[in-house]
Amino acid sequence: MTLPIVHHPDYDAQFSADHRFPMSKYARLIKVLRDKGLARPDNEHRPDLPGFDMLARAHAGDYVQAVLDCTVPRPIEREIGFPVDARVSRRAQLASAGTLLAARLALDHGLACNAAGGSHHARRAQGAGFCTFNDVAVAALALLAEGAISRALVVDLDVHQGDGTAEILMGDSRVFTFSMHAAKNYPLRKAVSDLDVALDDGIEDEAYLAELARMLPLIADHAKPQIVFYNAGVDPHRDDRLGRLALSDEGLRARDRAVIGYFRERNIPVCGVIGGGYSKDVDALAARHAILFETAAEFA
Ligand SMILES: [Zn+2]
Repeated sequence: MTLPIVHHPDYDAQFSADHRFPMSKYARLIKVLRDKGLARPDNEHRPDLPGFDMLARAHAGDYVQAVLDCTVPRPIEREIGFPVDARVSRRAQLASAGTLLAARLALDHGLACNAAGGSHHARRAQGAGFCTFNDVAVAALALLAEGAISRALVVDLDVHQGDGTAEILMGDSRVFTFSMHAAKNYPLRKAVSDLDVALDDGIEDEAYLAELARMLPLIADHAKPQIVFYNAGVDPHRDDRLGRLALSDEGLRARDRAVIGYFRERNIPVCGVIGGGYSKDVDALAARHAILFETAAEFA
Protein backbone atom coordinates (compact mmCIF):
# COMPACT_ATOMS: atom_id res chain seq x y z
CA MET A 1 0.00 0.00 0.00
CA THR A 2 1.17 3.54 -0.57
CA LEU A 3 0.67 6.28 1.99
CA PRO A 4 -2.49 8.35 1.36
CA ILE A 5 -1.62 12.06 1.48
CA VAL A 6 -4.20 14.82 1.84
CA HIS A 7 -3.48 18.22 0.35
CA HIS A 8 -5.26 21.27 -1.02
CA PRO A 9 -3.61 24.14 -2.91
CA ASP A 10 -5.54 26.58 -0.73
CA TYR A 11 -3.76 25.36 2.42
CA ASP A 12 -1.45 28.21 1.47
CA ALA A 13 -3.22 31.51 2.22
CA GLN A 14 -0.37 33.35 0.49
CA PHE A 15 1.04 35.60 3.17
CA SER A 16 3.92 37.89 2.36
CA ALA A 17 7.32 36.19 2.56
CA ASP A 18 8.35 38.21 5.63
CA HIS A 19 5.27 37.27 7.71
CA ARG A 20 6.02 35.72 11.11
CA PHE A 21 3.99 32.68 10.07
CA PRO A 22 5.81 30.76 7.30
CA MET A 23 2.72 30.20 5.15
CA SER A 24 4.65 29.21 2.05
CA LYS A 25 5.77 25.99 3.75
CA TYR A 26 2.56 24.23 2.67
CA ALA A 27 3.17 24.75 -1.04
CA ARG A 28 6.84 23.93 -0.59
CA LEU A 29 6.09 20.76 1.36
CA ILE A 30 3.78 19.25 -1.25
CA LYS A 31 6.34 20.09 -3.93
CA VAL A 32 9.01 18.21 -1.95
CA LEU A 33 6.64 15.26 -1.49
CA ARG A 34 5.85 15.19 -5.22
CA ASP A 35 9.52 15.52 -6.17
CA LYS A 36 10.36 12.58 -3.91
CA GLY A 37 7.57 10.51 -5.47
CA LEU A 38 5.75 10.26 -2.14
CA ALA A 39 2.74 12.27 -3.38
CA ARG A 40 1.38 11.22 -6.76
CA PRO A 41 -1.96 11.60 -8.55
CA ASP A 42 -3.02 8.13 -7.35
CA ASN A 43 -2.43 8.71 -3.62
CA GLU A 44 -3.07 12.45 -3.26
CA HIS A 45 -6.50 13.32 -1.89
CA ARG A 46 -8.18 16.72 -1.78
CA PRO A 47 -10.69 17.75 0.91
CA ASP A 48 -13.96 19.62 0.36
CA LEU A 49 -15.16 22.44 2.61
CA PRO A 50 -16.48 20.94 5.87
CA GLY A 51 -19.61 22.99 6.59
CA PHE A 52 -20.77 24.71 9.77
CA ASP A 53 -22.07 21.68 11.68
CA MET A 54 -18.85 19.74 11.49
CA LEU A 55 -16.83 22.68 12.80
CA ALA A 56 -19.40 23.49 15.49
CA ARG A 57 -18.89 20.14 17.23
CA ALA A 58 -15.49 21.42 18.34
CA HIS A 59 -16.11 25.16 18.42
CA ALA A 60 -18.72 27.61 19.67
CA GLY A 61 -21.27 28.34 16.96
CA ASP A 62 -20.78 32.10 17.09
CA TYR A 63 -17.02 31.71 16.62
CA VAL A 64 -17.46 29.31 13.68
CA GLN A 65 -19.89 31.74 12.05
CA ALA A 66 -17.50 34.64 12.62
CA VAL A 67 -14.69 32.74 10.86
CA LEU A 68 -16.99 31.76 7.96
CA ASP A 69 -18.15 35.39 7.65
CA CYS A 70 -14.66 36.85 8.22
CA THR A 71 -15.97 38.91 11.15
CA VAL A 72 -13.66 37.61 13.89
CA PRO A 73 -13.23 40.37 16.51
CA ARG A 74 -9.88 42.17 16.36
CA PRO A 75 -8.65 41.05 19.83
CA ILE A 76 -9.13 37.40 18.81
CA GLU A 77 -7.39 38.03 15.48
CA ARG A 78 -4.50 39.45 17.47
CA GLU A 79 -4.37 36.27 19.57
CA ILE A 80 -4.43 34.17 16.39
CA GLY A 81 -1.60 36.25 14.92
CA PHE A 82 -3.19 37.32 11.64
CA PRO A 83 -6.50 38.74 10.36
CA VAL A 84 -9.08 36.12 9.37
CA ASP A 85 -9.80 37.17 5.81
CA ALA A 86 -11.43 35.02 3.12
CA ARG A 87 -8.22 33.14 2.32
CA VAL A 88 -7.38 32.43 5.97
CA SER A 89 -10.95 31.33 6.65
CA ARG A 90 -10.94 28.98 3.64
CA ARG A 91 -7.55 27.59 4.61
CA ALA A 92 -8.72 26.87 8.18
CA GLN A 93 -11.86 25.12 6.93
CA LEU A 94 -9.94 23.04 4.39
CA ALA A 95 -7.24 22.05 6.90
CA SER A 96 -9.94 20.73 9.27
CA ALA A 97 -11.67 18.85 6.48
CA GLY A 98 -8.26 17.59 5.40
CA THR A 99 -7.49 16.08 8.80
CA LEU A 100 -10.92 14.44 8.84
CA LEU A 101 -10.31 13.04 5.34
CA ALA A 102 -6.88 11.76 6.40
CA ALA A 103 -8.47 10.15 9.47
CA ARG A 104 -11.03 8.38 7.30
CA LEU A 105 -8.24 7.18 5.01
CA ALA A 106 -6.30 6.01 8.04
CA LEU A 107 -9.30 3.97 9.20
CA ASP A 108 -9.46 2.36 5.74
CA HIS A 109 -5.73 1.92 5.08
CA GLY A 110 -4.11 1.98 8.52
CA LEU A 111 -2.15 5.17 7.95
CA ALA A 112 -2.62 8.54 6.23
CA CYS A 113 -1.23 12.07 6.59
CA ASN A 114 -2.59 15.55 6.06
CA ALA A 115 -0.03 17.95 4.59
CA ALA A 116 -1.38 20.61 6.98
CA GLY A 117 -3.21 20.53 10.31
CA GLY A 118 -2.19 20.33 13.93
CA SER A 119 -3.78 23.68 14.80
CA HIS A 120 -3.75 22.73 18.43
CA HIS A 121 -3.97 26.15 20.08
CA ALA A 122 -7.50 26.81 18.78
CA ARG A 123 -9.88 26.53 21.72
CA ARG A 124 -13.65 26.03 21.77
CA ALA A 125 -14.56 29.71 21.74
CA GLN A 126 -11.68 31.17 19.72
CA GLY A 127 -8.47 30.68 17.82
CA ALA A 128 -4.99 31.52 19.12
CA GLY A 129 -1.30 31.02 18.35
CA PHE A 130 -1.57 30.87 14.51
CA CYS A 131 -4.49 28.41 14.86
CA THR A 132 -8.01 29.24 13.66
CA PHE A 133 -9.88 25.91 13.88
CA ASN A 134 -8.69 22.87 15.82
CA ASP A 135 -8.60 20.34 12.99
CA VAL A 136 -7.79 17.33 15.17
CA ALA A 137 -10.69 18.04 17.55
CA VAL A 138 -13.01 18.63 14.58
CA ALA A 139 -11.97 15.33 13.00
CA ALA A 140 -12.11 13.26 16.20
CA LEU A 141 -15.54 14.59 17.14
CA ALA A 142 -16.86 13.97 13.62
CA LEU A 143 -15.76 10.32 13.65
CA LEU A 144 -17.21 9.86 17.14
CA ALA A 145 -20.52 11.45 16.13
CA GLU A 146 -20.78 9.15 13.12
CA GLY A 147 -19.99 6.10 15.19
CA ALA A 148 -16.95 5.36 13.02
CA ILE A 149 -14.92 5.11 16.23
CA SER A 150 -15.69 5.12 19.94
CA ARG A 151 -12.21 5.95 21.28
CA ALA A 152 -9.32 8.10 20.05
CA LEU A 153 -5.88 9.20 21.19
CA VAL A 154 -4.12 12.48 20.42
CA VAL A 155 -0.33 12.24 20.53
CA ASP A 156 0.86 15.83 20.32
CA LEU A 157 4.63 16.15 19.99
CA ASP A 158 4.70 19.71 18.69
CA VAL A 159 7.06 21.68 20.93
CA HIS A 160 4.15 23.77 22.23
CA GLN A 161 1.47 22.36 24.49
CA GLY A 162 -1.75 21.25 22.76
CA ASP A 163 -3.75 23.54 25.01
CA GLY A 164 -6.69 24.08 22.66
CA THR A 165 -7.11 20.36 22.02
CA ALA A 166 -6.96 19.67 25.75
CA GLU A 167 -9.55 22.36 26.47
CA ILE A 168 -12.00 21.27 23.77
CA LEU A 169 -11.78 17.59 24.67
CA MET A 170 -11.54 18.01 28.44
CA GLY A 171 -14.13 15.83 30.14
CA ASP A 172 -14.68 13.76 26.99
CA SER A 173 -13.60 10.32 28.14
CA ARG A 174 -13.66 9.01 24.56
CA VAL A 175 -10.57 10.97 23.58
CA PHE A 176 -7.28 10.78 25.48
CA THR A 177 -5.06 13.83 24.99
CA PHE A 178 -1.29 13.51 25.40
CA SER A 179 1.07 16.44 24.95
CA MET A 180 4.86 16.40 25.31
CA HIS A 181 6.27 19.91 24.98
CA ALA A 182 8.82 22.43 26.20
CA ALA A 183 7.76 23.55 29.68
CA LYS A 184 8.83 27.17 29.21
CA ASN A 185 7.31 27.64 25.76
CA TYR A 186 4.00 29.17 24.62
CA PRO A 187 1.29 29.01 25.90
CA LEU A 188 2.22 30.70 29.15
CA ARG A 189 -0.82 29.25 30.88
CA LYS A 190 -1.04 25.57 30.05
CA ALA A 191 -4.29 23.66 29.83
CA VAL A 192 -4.58 20.21 31.39
CA SER A 193 -4.30 17.31 28.95
CA ASP A 194 -5.07 13.77 30.08
CA LEU A 195 -1.29 13.45 30.24
CA ASP A 196 1.25 16.25 29.93
CA VAL A 197 5.01 15.86 29.84
CA ALA A 198 6.77 19.21 30.18
CA LEU A 199 10.41 19.07 29.09
CA ASP A 200 13.36 21.22 30.12
CA ASP A 201 14.93 23.53 27.56
CA GLY A 202 17.65 22.14 25.34
CA ILE A 203 16.81 18.45 25.60
CA GLU A 204 18.50 16.41 22.85
CA ASP A 205 17.59 13.30 20.85
CA GLU A 206 18.53 10.56 23.27
CA ALA A 207 16.78 11.90 26.36
CA TYR A 208 13.73 12.96 24.33
CA LEU A 209 13.35 9.55 22.69
CA ALA A 210 13.79 7.75 26.02
CA GLU A 211 10.99 9.80 27.55
CA LEU A 212 8.75 9.14 24.54
CA ALA A 213 9.44 5.41 24.68
CA ARG A 214 8.45 5.44 28.35
CA MET A 215 5.18 7.25 27.62
CA LEU A 216 3.88 5.33 24.59
CA PRO A 217 2.82 2.15 26.43
CA LEU A 218 1.23 4.24 29.21
CA ILE A 219 -0.94 6.31 26.91
CA ALA A 220 -1.82 3.38 24.67
CA ASP A 221 -2.98 1.34 27.67
CA HIS A 222 -5.06 4.20 29.04
CA ALA A 223 -6.55 5.33 25.77
CA LYS A 224 -7.19 1.97 24.05
CA PRO A 225 -7.63 4.00 20.85
CA GLN A 226 -9.25 2.98 17.59
CA ILE A 227 -7.34 5.78 15.90
CA VAL A 228 -4.34 7.94 16.83
CA PHE A 229 -4.05 11.56 15.76
CA TYR A 230 -0.34 12.29 15.66
CA ASN A 231 0.78 15.95 15.67
CA ALA A 232 4.32 15.72 14.32
CA GLY A 233 5.27 19.38 14.72
CA VAL A 234 8.91 19.90 13.77
CA ASP A 235 9.45 22.82 16.13
CA PRO A 236 11.33 20.66 18.69
CA HIS A 237 14.19 20.90 16.14
CA ARG A 238 17.34 22.66 17.38
CA ASP A 239 17.22 25.19 14.52
CA ASP A 240 13.57 26.14 15.04
CA ARG A 241 12.95 29.83 15.75
CA LEU A 242 10.24 29.16 18.35
CA GLY A 243 11.25 25.84 19.83
CA ARG A 244 13.40 25.54 22.92
CA LEU A 245 14.48 21.94 22.42
CA ALA A 246 17.43 20.56 20.48
CA LEU A 247 16.36 17.62 18.36
CA SER A 248 18.23 16.83 15.15
CA ASP A 249 16.70 15.77 11.81
CA GLU A 250 17.50 12.18 12.71
CA GLY A 251 15.95 12.70 16.13
CA LEU A 252 12.71 13.83 14.51
CA ARG A 253 12.83 10.82 12.21
CA ALA A 254 13.37 8.45 15.14
CA ARG A 255 10.52 10.15 16.99
CA ASP A 256 8.11 9.70 14.08
CA ARG A 257 9.25 6.10 13.65
CA ALA A 258 8.70 5.42 17.35
CA VAL A 259 5.13 6.76 17.35
CA ILE A 260 3.97 5.36 14.03
CA GLY A 261 5.74 2.06 14.56
CA TYR A 262 4.32 1.58 18.04
CA PHE A 263 0.72 1.91 16.90
CA ARG A 264 1.04 0.22 13.52
CA GLU A 265 2.63 -2.82 15.17
CA ARG A 266 -0.57 -3.02 17.19
CA ASN A 267 -2.71 -2.51 14.09
CA ILE A 268 -4.08 0.83 15.33
CA PRO A 269 -4.72 3.39 12.55
CA VAL A 270 -2.59 6.56 12.61
CA CYS A 271 -3.56 9.92 11.14
CA GLY A 272 -0.53 12.25 10.92
CA VAL A 273 -0.74 16.04 10.81
CA ILE A 274 2.23 18.34 10.36
CA GLY A 275 1.86 20.81 13.25
CA GLY A 276 4.26 23.68 13.83
CA GLY A 277 7.62 24.50 12.35
CA TYR A 278 9.16 27.94 12.17
CA SER A 279 12.16 28.93 10.13
CA LYS A 280 12.99 31.67 7.67
CA ASP A 281 14.55 28.95 5.53
CA VAL A 282 11.41 27.49 3.95
CA ASP A 283 13.34 24.78 2.09
CA ALA A 284 14.85 23.51 5.33
CA LEU A 285 11.45 23.69 6.98
CA ALA A 286 9.68 21.79 4.19
CA ALA A 287 12.39 19.13 4.31
CA ARG A 288 11.82 18.80 8.06
CA HIS A 289 8.05 18.41 7.62
CA ALA A 290 8.67 15.85 4.86
CA ILE A 291 10.27 13.54 7.45
CA LEU A 292 6.79 12.61 8.73
CA PHE A 293 5.73 11.49 5.25
CA GLU A 294 8.99 9.67 4.51
CA THR A 295 8.71 7.82 7.80
CA ALA A 296 4.99 7.07 7.43
CA ALA A 297 5.64 5.69 3.94
CA GLU A 298 7.95 3.08 5.51
CA PHE A 299 4.95 1.71 7.40
CA ALA A 300 2.25 2.14 4.75
ZN1 LIG B 1 4.34 24.48 17.89
